[in-house]
Amino acid sequence: MAFLCVNALKRSRFCFLPIDVSRCFQVRMQTGHRVNQVSTVRCQVSCHRTAKVAVIRDFRHTVRSGTGRPPLLPRSFVETPPSLHSPPVLKHHGHHFHTSAHLKGLPAAAVWMVLKPLQKLAAAILGRSIRKWWVALPANRRQLFREWVWQRRWHLAALAGVAMVILSLLLLTHLDESPLTGRTRLLVFSRESYLELAALTAEAYMEEFAELLLPVTDVRHQVVERVVQHLAQRNKDIPEVSDVSWTVHVVQGPTVNAFVLSNGEVFVYTGMLETVTDVHQLTIILGHEMAHALLGHSAEQASLSHILDLLSLILLSAIWALCPRDSLAVLGHWVQQKLSQLMFSRPYSRKLEAEADQVGLQLAAKACADVRAGPVFWQQMEIRDQLSGEPSLPEWLSTHPSHRNRITHLDRLIPQALELRESCVCPALPATDPRAVFSETVRVLLEKNKREEAHAAAPIHGLPPVPAGLPAALLAPNSLPASSHVHQENKTSV
Ligand SMILES: [Zn+2]
Repeated sequence: MAFLCVNALKRSRFCFLPIDVSRCFQVRMQTGHRVNQVSTVRCQVSCHRTAKVAVIRDFRHTVRSGTGRPPLLPRSFVETPPSLHSPPVLKHHGHHFHTSAHLKGLPAAAVWMVLKPLQKLAAAILGRSIRKWWVALPANRRQLFREWVWQRRWHLAALAGVAMVILSLLLLTHLDESPLTGRTRLLVFSRESYLELAALTAEAYMEEFAELLLPVTDVRHQVVERVVQHLAQRNKDIPEVSDVSWTVHVVQGPTVNAFVLSNGEVFVYTGMLETVTDVHQLTIILGHEMAHALLGHSAEQASLSHILDLLSLILLSAIWALCPRDSLAVLGHWVQQKLSQLMFSRPYSRKLEAEADQVGLQLAAKACADVRAGPVFWQQMEIRDQLSGEPSLPEWLSTHPSHRNRITHLDRLIPQALELRESCVCPALPATDPRAVFSETVRVLLEKNKREEAHAAAPIHGLPPVPAGLPAALLAPNSLPASSHVHQENKTSV
């Protein structure tokens, strides 16, 4: 039972994993769209002025060399310049985990996750039974039943009205205010319940990744550890941050992924470390993931899913009762599920992603990161996806905003984040905006490509075909800081 519910939680988390790669690789450029207007939501993130300021000077060793930007990490980080390019280390981490002890007290969310498919099965059986009963009913009995329903139509309508009122009252009593943003949301499962479930999930992941976890002595683990602890330290004025013990696990794997469970267990793939250009980008990515955790997005999304599932049980019964054949009922069930995802679950997921982008950027700003690196990361991802040439789903089919919309959203949030950063007495940022540097780099590459084409340069061999709209210059080795090193099977979204 624990295995089932933990798997369900894995599927419901916001950050993609190998099992979610195809589902999460759903982003592409959509210049005409805007992200959800989360930026208008009140955000209470402010600088904890009593926190010690990380004093960093003349630190030339960014996580990936060549960026020339100042660092943001504490002195201990400076004294041991990290490198994310250590040779891969595949060692057993030495942990042995047992989940059986937790079976004694499964949280409510876990119980629901196990019962969810059973509820749907029961609804389908009920609807099918009604259909069989109706078909077997003699014609005169059917007529009598119709007349009975018509005579009591107002009673039945009143009954449905009372049910709606009760349901509305139940929903109203489960309204909650999101920490930091103050957004009103529905929360059926308590944060405590989800923390228990997160502990089970973390253990399952630790078992799954046992052979892939980097040792704590690995420099890549140390880099992530320092960034996470620095984020936690600089945001300790937020109870949801200081109440949690943040634990880092770095997983050896090409997946461009990182995720944080509600109980503070941070998982980062080495693929993500190879993709970020510098420590600023890593801080913003981890800030985004920590924002998911402290905002309780998992519990929130599970709550929405719970309500939708309960409501869909009525619809599901009706589908199985009204469809003349089982095959049509199965098709109707599938269509109903897809419509529910497209109309409710995925837009809601994109809204939470945008909120995590907003809060994560604020957390990173308080940690003195160069928040201007956030849009650059997504620009890199956008180009990486274009170079991969793989088709991507439109945003409305995706659980995540498109890269383009994330760039636009983050760009809009940068001035506010810079103000917050300044109020936290952080070291001054370089005058050169990394967004301008990136744009200029791309522009130079484009011009170089045009010149080469004009001079009838020899065709580039051994490289994939150039997608429409992108020049071959971008495919040249080392033309992009990190994107070109990413394995093409890697998918992204955080
Ligand atoms: Zn996310």
